[in-house]
Amino acid sequence: MTRAKKATELSSDPLDAMLARLQLSGIRERLDSLLDEASRANLSTRETLILLCEREIARKDHRRIEMALKLAHFPAVKELASFDFEAQPSIDPKQIRDLAASRWIANGENVLLLGPPGVGKTHLSIALGREAILAGYTVQFTTATTLVAGLAKAHGERRLDEKLLALSKPKLLIVDELGYLPLEPDAAHLFFQLVSRRYETGAMLITSNRSVAEWGTVFADPVVATAILDRLLHHSHVLTIRGDSYRLRAKRKSGLVKPLAGDGPPVGSASLRPLPGESNLQPRS
Ligand code: ADP
Ligand code: MG
Repeated sequence: MTRAKKATELSSDPLDAMLARLQLSGIRERLDSLLDEASRANLSTRETLILLCEREIARKDHRRIEMALKLAHFPAVKELASFDFEAQPSIDPKQIRDLAASRWIANGENVLLLGPPGVGKTHLSIALGREAILAGYTVQFTTATTLVAGLAKAHGERRLDEKLLALSKPKLLIVDELGYLPLEPDAAHLFFQLVSRRYETGAMLITSNRSVAEWGTVFADPVVATAILDRLLHHSHVLTIRGDSYRLRAKRKSGLVKPLAGDGPPVGSASLRPLPGESNLQPRS
């Protein structure tokens, strides 16, 4: 017996019972105050119905978004609104805004965000994932290491098909940090199977600190790397982010990180040279 049906039987108010059965919980829980609001505003019957429907839809949307954000497993809350585009001139804000409209997800295309550590790849991938959820798509976030470990485990337990099916469900799959660790040939092949499964049906957003030319090394097998890239790049948007680590930029401004020898521009200048990785971090004295 469903919860809604139970509510029908328990409620003595027929309107309340019908709202429960129709699962219009937004209207049901606030019916009296909504009707008061309508009468205070002298709404016609039709306008009152519009008000009730709007509130129900707003509540259902809110719940769907909350649930989808939970299911996406984002590692942090990051939004486009908090991304400082001026700090990262190699990114075209218009291109990001276009991607935020999520048409590429509807079309099953891919986005590759490439660049050194700290330039905002994870931030942008979460923010775009969030926009996709607001637009009504299902999203799952994972790191390359977790993804490949999960695939290898499923393979070992003869559940690979089941795992690939589960990973082909979300309309957008975000794979963060590909290339930080090289993949074993077996792992590369499993990744290839996932990419093939999602090809042209489900969008992927992949972040990597390696350029596409280096993916042969990442996948330990140039043939598999080529096959993966062939599918990923077929319908894709490749964004290469250059420049400073945002984390180090803040530290450098506060004087915690010394500029490189011969670094001309003053600290805080927009034209600071890129640092080699994050190795220039000075210990706090
Ligand atoms: P990456 O994934 O490229 O290593 P992150 O996205 O993790 O970098 O960014 C590192 C930190 O700096 C995060 O806290 C992120 O929110 C912040 N950050 C990076 N770039 C920007 C930016 N342009 N505007 C605002 N915050 C940024
Ligand atoms: Mg990252």
